[in-house]
Amino acid sequence: MYPNLTGIIIALLPFAAILVILMMNSRRPSVLNPVESPKSDLPRVIPRDQHPVSRRELSDNALKVLYRLKDAGYDSYLVGGCVRDILLDKHPKDFDVATEAHPEQVHELFRNSRLIGRRFKLVHVRFGREIIEVATFRASHDSNDKSGQQSEGGMLLRDNVYGTVIDDALRRDFTVNALYYSVKDFAIHDYANGLEDLNNRTLRMIGDPEARYREDPVRMLRAVRFAAKLQFSIEPGTEEPIKRLADLLGNIPAARLFEEVLKLFLSGDAETTFELLREFELFGILFPATEHALQLFELNPKQQPDCEALLRAAFRSTDSRVRQGKSVTPAFIYAALLWHPMQRRMGALQAKGLPAVPALHQASQEIILEQIQSTTIPRRFSQPMREIWELQLRLPRRTGRRPEQTFEHPRFRAAYDFLLMREIAGEDLDGLGEWWTQYQLDHAPATTNYPQHAEREHGNDNDESRTPKRRRRRRRSKPATGNND
Ligand code: ATP
Ligand code: MG
Repeated sequence: MYPNLTGIIIALLPFAAILVILMMNSRRPSVLNPVESPKSDLPRVIPRDQHPVSRRELSDNALKVLYRLKDAGYDSYLVGGCVRDILLDKHPKDFDVATEAHPEQVHELFRNSRLIGRRFKLVHVRFGREIIEVATFRASHDSNDKSGQQSEGGMLLRDNVYGTVIDDALRRDFTVNALYYSVKDFAIHDYANGLEDLNNRTLRMIGDPEARYREDPVRMLRAVRFAAKLQFSIEPGTEEPIKRLADLLGNIPAARLFEEVLKLFLSGDAETTFELLREFELFGILFPATEHALQLFELNPKQQPDCEALLRAAFRSTDSRVRQGKSVTPAFIYAALLWHPMQRRMGALQAKGLPAVPALHQASQEIILEQIQSTTIPRRFSQPMREIWELQLRLPRRTGRRPEQTFEHPRFRAAYDFLLMREIAGEDLDGLGEWWTQYQLDHAPATTNYPQHAEREHGNDNDESRTPKRRRRRRRSKPATGNND
């Protein structure tokens, strides 16, 4: 009998081993790559009397959404940039809600809501001009998951598996972006030690940085953007892989990169962001021709135009406009970014005998076509951008009726600002900027309080200095372009 029992045990051993492996697997965190498990004292719950986030600072509409979800029995939080920014005494850009309710359930609760999303489903709850984005808690994927959610290189192809609030926290990018505020207890729930990093002004990737960048290379751009915006230092482990992996950005669709470029350069910290993008060798992936022009100048500053000076002038001017709450347009930034590559190409075409105007047209066309391989440029921006360039050829013509015709052009104002920027960047244009400043003062309607030279605006289609009559005429002939369209 005993030998029999031993035999049975031996026979069962493989099955027992399989059972143990299965049990171990089911207990693994449902994240793609080994994410550090939350430290033992996590989640930390910081009660209302120990943190500065008060309901007065939150959007009333975001609170409405949170209360309705809570009343319907769903666990829900404010999360991401809004909690982070309030803790840093900054004004949040928008309010994002994370909840256990599924998108359809959220949609049912709000008549004023819409299901959206390509990569993952979200709900937008609209209150006039404000949109509160509500996302269901998501989990990442197990690295053994062969269901086609990941590419060969580790990039996430789909990211729409629902999870718990802890899963949701651990699949976020940086620890300071994984702080949750609840209206159940008005406490802040910290699942990734974000508060400590926030206090130390440190940007730290949740989990293994390299794996997280491979999952979504856009996180490299986000690291740079937040470091510039928050004036945080990037934790060494989070910083180290960026240069090595920069090329992975080439796998991201050009349309998504265009959206990221807008956030990088139109959020008020463009100049610092530009410096960091170059430092981490990300800039050349987004703007290869511009990077080439920058390097040409570095190699031969005496012979080459100072591309960097023009970009800095454009970014500085944009940053100052954003801080003053004025409108800014991607057309102007792109015109500056691609100006020197376009000029070089135009010069080469002229050297082959093409006259200036057709050379500029052809060069613009070629440079834009090359750029959209990296980041798209919607036509509503590329068209005004071409016009800003084209007007640079018309502005030097100061005789006869020419100035009047140039002044009448709907893109005059942006082109004039561009001209001033070229001068600020060191181009000698024979006093052209000053001439046009005087021209406008001489031709401005008596009632208009025209701004002084130092306060010029750029790229603004809603040009306050124009008379209502002229503005109406222009609107009919050409739709407005820019951020506010
Ligand atoms: P801001 O809106 O001020 O630019 P934000 O942190 O709110 O900053 P969003 O792009 O609005 O950034 O994203 C909201 C939140 O979603 C982030 O805080 C982060 O938690 C998460 N998130 C966004 N993009 C990613 C990403 N690519 N990978 C991981 N988490 C992300
Ligand atoms: Mg946000």
